[in-house]
Amino acid sequence: MDWRDRGLCLREDPDLFFPIGNINSGQAVMQTDDAKAVCRRCPVMEQCLAWAVDAGPVEGIWGGTTEGERRATRRRTARRTAATKTAA
Ligand code: SF4
Repeated sequence: MDWRDRGLCLREDPDLFFPIGNINSGQAVMQTDDAKAVCRRCPVMEQCLAWAVDAGPVEGIWGGTTEGERRATRRRTARRTAATKTAA
């Protein structure tokens, strides 16, 4: 069975995980918080987050994160990798 088949989001309205509008204000903030709350209870959150970070830019809430949060993770990882190569 694929990890995607075990996601709790399968039991939710898919729109919950794709907030529309400015994700820093209004309804989108509440929607994002509600989607993240589902992810925090999800048994495959780690696999989902790893997939979303590796996949590159993907819209929506995956693994309890927004695309902006995943972008920041990618940048930190790239900086660490570059620093490690420089030090070697
Ligand atoms: S972590 Fe969130 S988006 Fe990923 S499978 Fe679970 S509920 Fe769905």
